[in-house]
Amino acid sequence: MIWKARPHVSVAPGTSRHPYFPERGNEGYWAEHYELTLDYRVGANRLRASAVVSAFATARLEAFTLDLADALRVTAVTVDGVPARFTHGRDKLRVVPARGLHEGTLFVVEVRYGGNPSPVPSRWGGLGWEQLTDGVIVASQPTGAPSWFPCNDHPGDKSTYRVTVTTGSAYAVAANGRLAARRRGASTTTWVYEQAEPMATYLASVQIGRYQVTEVAGPVPQRLLHPARLASRVRADFARQGQMIALFTELFGPYPFASYTAVVADDDLEIPVEAQGMSIFGRNHVDGRRGEERLVAHELAHQWFGNSLTLGSWSEIWLHEGFAAYAEWLWSEASGGETADTLAGRWHRRLAELPQDFPLADPGPRRLFDDRVYKRGALTLHALRRTLGDDAFFALLREWTTTYQHGTVSTAQFTRLAARHAATPLTPLFTAWLHADRLPPLPARRAGGGARRTRP
Ligand SMILES: [Zn+2]
Repeated sequence: MIWKARPHVSVAPGTSRHPYFPERGNEGYWAEHYELTLDYRVGANRLRASAVVSAFATARLEAFTLDLADALRVTAVTVDGVPARFTHGRDKLRVVPARGLHEGTLFVVEVRYGGNPSPVPSRWGGLGWEQLTDGVIVASQPTGAPSWFPCNDHPGDKSTYRVTVTTGSAYAVAANGRLAARRRGASTTTWVYEQAEPMATYLASVQIGRYQVTEVAGPVPQRLLHPARLASRVRADFARQGQMIALFTELFGPYPFASYTAVVADDDLEIPVEAQGMSIFGRNHVDGRRGEERLVAHELAHQWFGNSLTLGSWSEIWLHEGFAAYAEWLWSEASGGETADTLAGRWHRRLAELPQDFPLADPGPRRLFDDRVYKRGALTLHALRRTLGDDAFFALLREWTTTYQHGTVSTAQFTRLAARHAATPLTPLFTAWLHADRLPPLPARRAGGGARRTRP
């Protein structure tokens, strides 16, 4: 395996100035590839697994750590095929290889583990691997990945994956990437998925359920997984997803992955969640009348903003949520609903009545998923669009997604790139919108920068 250059990592793991989750991420190496083999019993919630992690040592290592939840029990660890000593506690697996590892070398650590996986606690409730009524959902953002595999749980450390899941044949299994193989045994079926594009740990996902699989052809192959009895509702609610892909491709650049899977779980979920090449909705999000279509657009937009271009520090969550929230408005505008201008005006008035007590570009871990972050992020982009005009604004978005495709990004990189598309300095605009607490007024629309007339 060849070590990939990491030109876009602006924040090395564990070294951000104000890390939101200092307990996550590990020093001294980058993960390159995860090979996860999972044998899982749905009813008993019983996991037997191995993880083979290829990593690159960025320092000489006498010992190193991986993030792994205490609920899982480790039975054996090897490094480069040689048994290694290990201890496991406080969600860290500490490995002492038989021989120290040299800086600049690749090494392979294999961890055998198992038990009853359960969500890891957080201020947002349990994160990660979670039993459904009859299946499994994995929703790890931001710190749930160690609930099901040992990893370097830092969003700036993106890797390729191969995930093999063996479980009862009554269930369908979805994971990130391409379905490379499916083998049916006596009572179980083995599913092998390969994720060729680099992926952050929190976006790694496995979905297990009694799902019907509907394939939708198109420039980007789409797959819908859902309970059979919800088929007509799901078909109706996701009917315009292909048009969304076309619109976002025009506005943001090419769809960054080989396919897209939408899973509708047979449970109610508080909110839908994105994974790489995949989104997961609850049955409460489908009504057969496109009642939650904005969420379909939102999760799809995360494939560009969040999954292909991933933050290096959780403090810059607006780079994901502000863009995905703005994509909702763009879809509304292009599909004959309210224009982005109308929506921006309304949300500006609403935000003006709410407390303005944190800067968008560093809201603090408590406010990571605060709706004000989403809406002010969208408003920031609308303010930028009004300032630049449509042509320059969308050219900027396309250059942003191509320059940093499958990379790690920061607010500073975005504002630097934006400056290259502007006739006048943008520093006052970004200072006011990103770094000050107070909500600024929306700037006047630039002459000639009217509403888009695109109608897909
Ligand atoms: Zn989102």
